[in-house]
Amino acid sequence: MNVRGIGRVVVVAMALTVPLGAQLLSAPGADAASVTTLYYSSSDAPDYVAQIDQGAANWNAAVTDVKLVKRDSSATIVIHETNDGQGSYTNTDGHGNGQIYLDSTQVAEGYDVTRIAAHEIGHNLGLPDDYTGPCSELMSGHGPGTSCKNEKPSAQEAATVQRNFANGFAPATAVRTFR
Ligand SMILES: [Zn+2]
Repeated sequence: MNVRGIGRVVVVAMALTVPLGAQLLSAPGADAASVTTLYYSSSDAPDYVAQIDQGAANWNAAVTDVKLVKRDSSATIVIHETNDGQGSYTNTDGHGNGQIYLDSTQVAEGYDVTRIAAHEIGHNLGLPDDYTGPCSELMSGHGPGTSCKNEKPSAQEAATVQRNFANGFAPATAVRTFR
């Protein structure tokens, strides 16, 4: 089976188990001081460092509850470059822990690299695929085709991520691999 396109992903453990105390202390979106910092590494995707940084920057510009920072040591979002023609994808828990694989074959087909990176990061921020969605969404992935160059989340996508991290949403302790 050769699944292609941006993102075969299974987001594991979407259920939000927020400690009761945390719920009481912080209403969603009400606490501007609650920022979750997630560290990502792009050193294993040397051809796409600039595009990955731009994809992360686009998320940082759209949300305030979570912040993506590049740092190799102890990064919980680790981005790799592959060329197996399988399409780009991520294994993630949807809580800021994941391995992202950017497929150079897919890039050669004309898909926008920054869009791919931002899409896969979106999974790591808890968003599911929406292949039938418009180009204005990141999570429509390969759906709108190679002509789609949108590299920024839609307002709705940003709002969902904002909500996902509104209570601090601490990263899970273990990466669960699950395609
Ligand atoms: Zn995807």
